[in-house]
Amino acid sequence: MHFAVDQELCIGCGACAGSCPEVFEIIDGKSTVIVDPVPDEECASSAEDGCPVGAISHD
Ligand code: SF4
Repeated sequence: MHFAVDQELCIGCGACAGSCPEVFEIIDGKSTVIVDPVPDEECASSAEDGCPVGAISHD
């Protein structure tokens, strides 16, 4: 599965990187997906559900 972070929506709260550091990293105040495709879909899906601004998506 491929994940993406909308850089316009992300507020850099760090929740995704905190709960799923193998997939998300905060770079210059915004979350970035650092693996593609994502091997641990459960972790990334939880981060997607937990994002307060809905910036994470997948296809
Ligand atoms: S949880 Fe959402 S708003 Fe927070 S850093 Fe991750 S993508 Fe950005």
